[in-house]
Amino acid sequence: MEAPTSCPVCGTAVVGWGELATHLVERAGRSDGDHIMWLNRRVTKHRRPAAELEADLVATLSGDEPSAPRVRR
Ligand SMILES: [Zn+2]
Repeated sequence: MEAPTSCPVCGTAVVGWGELATHLVERAGRSDGDHIMWLNRRVTKHRRPAAELEADLVATLSGDEPSAPRVRR
């Protein structure tokens, strides 16, 4: 898998999955509609801490199925 170099939503430069996850969580936390919609569609409808979101991002954007169970309720 390739590490991301920019946010797929707004194009902001990021370095790696961790930074992308942090960026997405931070923007979604500010009620940024574009980022929230992207997360809802592509990754999860639930608010997640960046550390958890990172694993889902890797799985989603790299096209690999996650090996760990994703849904915890
Ligand atoms: Zn962004």
